[in-house]
Amino acid sequence: MAKTGKLVGLVGWRGMVGSVLMERMLAEGDFDLIEPVFFSTSNAGGQAPAMAKNETRLKDAHDLAALSHCDIIITAQGGDYTSAVFQPLRQSGWKGHWIDAASTLRMAPDAVIVLDPVNLPVIQDALTKGGKNWIGGNCTVSCMLMGVGALYKAGLVEWMSTQTYQAASGGGAQHMRELLTQFGTLHAEVRALLDDPHSAILEIDRRISSAQRGFSSDETAHFGVPLGGSLIPWIDKDLGLGKSSDEPGWGTSREEWKGMAETNKILGQGEAYGTAAVPVDGFCVRVGTMRCHSQALTFKLKKDVPLADVEAMIAADNPWAKVVPNTREDTVRDLTPVAVTGTMTIPVGRIRKMAMGPQYLGAYTIGDQLLWGAAEPLRRTLRILLEH
Ligand code: NAP
Repeated sequence: MAKTGKLVGLVGWRGMVGSVLMERMLAEGDFDLIEPVFFSTSNAGGQAPAMAKNETRLKDAHDLAALSHCDIIITAQGGDYTSAVFQPLRQSGWKGHWIDAASTLRMAPDAVIVLDPVNLPVIQDALTKGGKNWIGGNCTVSCMLMGVGALYKAGLVEWMSTQTYQAASGGGAQHMRELLTQFGTLHAEVRALLDDPHSAILEIDRRISSAQRGFSSDETAHFGVPLGGSLIPWIDKDLGLGKSSDEPGWGTSREEWKGMAETNKILGQGEAYGTAAVPVDGFCVRVGTMRCHSQALTFKLKKDVPLADVEAMIAADNPWAKVVPNTREDTVRDLTPVAVTGTMTIPVGRIRKMAMGPQYLGAYTIGDQLLWGAAEPLRRTLRILLEH
């Protein structure tokens, strides 16, 4: 592809998503095609990273005049930034393309949730209609659809329930540091006992619980409660407030709500498209892993489909989805955060018919949420826009 020389503003490039985005853009040669301008909310005037060409100083990410010079802006800075800058920038007359990792604009009628291996037709349709706002999806939803999107595309899903196991990195760079700091404190607490093979395990256990319960507010500043050696069965805000406890939606976290809202919007179905939405619901849980979101899925299919056909559809859907045979050996080797971190592969395993009946299908999938769940759809959208 020819160089476009388009001026592309990069905001949030040193955060967790932004760092992975920079790595991927370098690996794929994206910087060869653009003139990058780096912005910062904390270090305007500082040195831009090595990928900078003519614009070697960081610009102020709140400077609307500087932003409005860009043909395309990619931001992984976060929702507060999007809320502060997007509307004023549009109101100032800026007509460029806005590509964003934050959730703020996802459900706006004029925004497309981008995941091109799943919804390229939706993206292309919006482009021909003059669409300018391209938003990355929720990380668990994007990874799930990269894995089992074939079942949705085939119209086989009556409903889906998902139970997630989401990594600390889903919260960002500071959250990963906090998890590791907590693990360090816990290890230091029992190091001498661990070195002694005769020490009592209940004493180790007691000291760990006591240390976890004794973490200072500094040690839990980002997650609010201990995560090292524990888990947190609630992610993001309470969206069910104000509803009757007998209504669906009551007691639902925002992360859980995104499952249904975003799955349907990505697929171009649901109320806004004049079609029925597929119900998706479940529980989202933060676990003490570094990277990768895992999820156990239960489907009710519209009909009984042979397992071999399900596996074949998943395997053929896109180059990254990979079926892991449902054996103990394959599962423990290939279906873990350690195996998947830093890779583009989306393994789908534990595929089996469930005890409730032949239309009930179980599966377990995992993806590096910083790649397919965040950075990758953004840079692929940049490519789509450059080629348009
Ligand atoms: P993050 O790591 O907290 O980075 C956001 C910003 O924090 C950075 O751009 C940086 O801004 C600032 N920052 C402050 N201290 C930092 C430090 N020690 N190291 C690096 N950056 C630091 O957040 P994120 O996880 O990348 O998320 C960005 C957006 O993407 C959010 O809207 C999030 O919801 C969304 N998202 C995240 C994920 C995920 O898995 N993490 C997945 C999908 C979507 P300055 O350089 O301007 O100071």
